[in-house]
Amino acid sequence: MSGLIPDSVLDAVLERVDIVEVVSDFLPLQKAGKSYKALCPFHKEKTASFNVSPDKQIFHCFGCRAGGNAFRFLMLHEGLNFYEAVKTLAERAGVRLPRSGRGEPDGSLRLIEANECAAAYFHGLLEERKEGKRGLSYVSERGISRETIDTFRIGYSPADSRGLVAAAGKMKMSARDLENAGLLSKSSSGGVRGRFRQRVMFPISSVAGRVVGFGGRVLGKDVPKYLNSPETPVYRKGHILYGLHLAREEMRRRQQAVLVEGYTDLVRLWQEGIRNVVASLGTSLTEDHVRLVKRYAKEAVIVFDGDDAGADASLRGLDLLVAGGVRVRIASLPAGEDPDDFVAQRGGPAMERVLEQAQDIIDYKLQRLESRHDRSTAAGRVDIIDEMLDTLAGIPHAVEKSEALRAVAQRIGVDEQAVRVQLGRHERKGARRPEESTPAAHQPEPMLERTLLRLLLENPELGAGISGDVTPDDFSHPDYRRIANVLFVEGGRGLPVIMSRLEGEGVSDVLARIMMDDVACSDPDRVVQDCVVRMKEQRAKTERSKLRIRIEEAEKARDTAQVRELLGEYQKWSCGAAIPGPRLSDMENKTDE
Ligand SMILES: [Zn+2]
Repeated sequence: MSGLIPDSVLDAVLERVDIVEVVSDFLPLQKAGKSYKALCPFHKEKTASFNVSPDKQIFHCFGCRAGGNAFRFLMLHEGLNFYEAVKTLAERAGVRLPRSGRGEPDGSLRLIEANECAAAYFHGLLEERKEGKRGLSYVSERGISRETIDTFRIGYSPADSRGLVAAAGKMKMSARDLENAGLLSKSSSGGVRGRFRQRVMFPISSVAGRVVGFGGRVLGKDVPKYLNSPETPVYRKGHILYGLHLAREEMRRRQQAVLVEGYTDLVRLWQEGIRNVVASLGTSLTEDHVRLVKRYAKEAVIVFDGDDAGADASLRGLDLLVAGGVRVRIASLPAGEDPDDFVAQRGGPAMERVLEQAQDIIDYKLQRLESRHDRSTAAGRVDIIDEMLDTLAGIPHAVEKSEALRAVAQRIGVDEQAVRVQLGRHERKGARRPEESTPAAHQPEPMLERTLLRLLLENPELGAGISGDVTPDDFSHPDYRRIANVLFVEGGRGLPVIMSRLEGEGVSDVLARIMMDDVACSDPDRVVQDCVVRMKEQRAKTERSKLRIRIEEAEKARDTAQVRELLGEYQKWSCGAAIPGPRLSDMENKTDE
């Protein structure tokens, strides 16, 4: 994302703003040694673990691990996107951002304005106009109150799109703008027409509460029943949780998120006083969703309809939450009822009780599996254990994992040690996959790599001394590898700039954490050299053991050509030959530009 704002502008903004001043606008900071402290705004705490470093121009919380530069702070605290954060600070610093057109990142603001304008138009129709009456009666029949309609800005989109185009025109927006935002679409005759026709409209907002897309529930004969905006630069399904802008405060306060599937489910639960509720908009959960949930809550309670097939399908997505370190519980409703029906018939307090009684995911999954496989036979027990392995493998905390494993073994009536062995095999199989599937945050953080990154960030000149000796690929931790990739290219640009480059990578908090390791180092040059040597040894060791497995496999398959080739590679890693890839020496070249 940051690539769309010229570097010179980012540099200028970061040079002129002081993170201490920026944070002071929102929090009372206390001076403590070289840095400032406050109670963390991102998690609940009694003693201050939120730190701001004026030297490094970054913040970091030792409690919840949030961290980053001034842009990052505004993004987290005010729910802005990167561009909005830059814009806010640029205004403050008196730096002018390149005006409109291509200067704005992919016209994001224009897209948001078009969506905002449509939301106001649809909402006005539903509330005040004859055309919107059908929408209003549908919504009222579902028991949604006027106040809730206003809170969610629910609207109605008629069959004819001319009203929308006219409303946009008043805001100096063209049909093309509406088309770009996915509100108009090309018809078969070559003209344009409204994408949403005769639908009740649910605006979908960004965390900052700006409308970025819509979900429309059909009232006429159109299919599908629910239609969403197409993906645009501001609306990406895998990145958005419906209702998050309204729910995040309560999620943070309770450290819990309630997850439902649809718009009306969410709106009804909200109306009944359950305010930490978000919806995944019918898509399966992505890692980005998990990150969003985790930013505000430690626990997710998933509300499942009393529909078995749907529940089993959604279970897989939940392993991602577990692997992301979120505690997951399942609240199941009586057969045939969805959350909307349930609260309509039994009210909010009954729903609260269902949420309180939600079952731990391990118990829930076991119960589901037991209904599908026969636990009294050996084959059935094997099937159950096999299907549990993905969930168990994902649990990031070793103690929790071990305890869950014991509980599963006991319940199914199998030997705990045997399950442990099987889980080990399962995890190794997973580790051999070419792409890392485990979220990075839960791999142990290798201290060597961390130290090396910190020293290079603090002393960019040391990069030259180890040029060619180490590459980003030598970093085993995926987050560190991402940081190394940027560092090796951006070298001497300074920490806040490097941090901005990493914004899109989602690792700026990791970087802030590394930089907060206030370890005095009297001879950084020697330590850097030392880290490099040891990292190279470790890399060679890892590569050799990976190759050993592949050689074994090739031998089993009697693929002699492959074996020979792999042995050759193995040889290379044994004598520490040069490693291809971008080098540290590139750092100097780039800085000289
Ligand atoms: Zn915190």
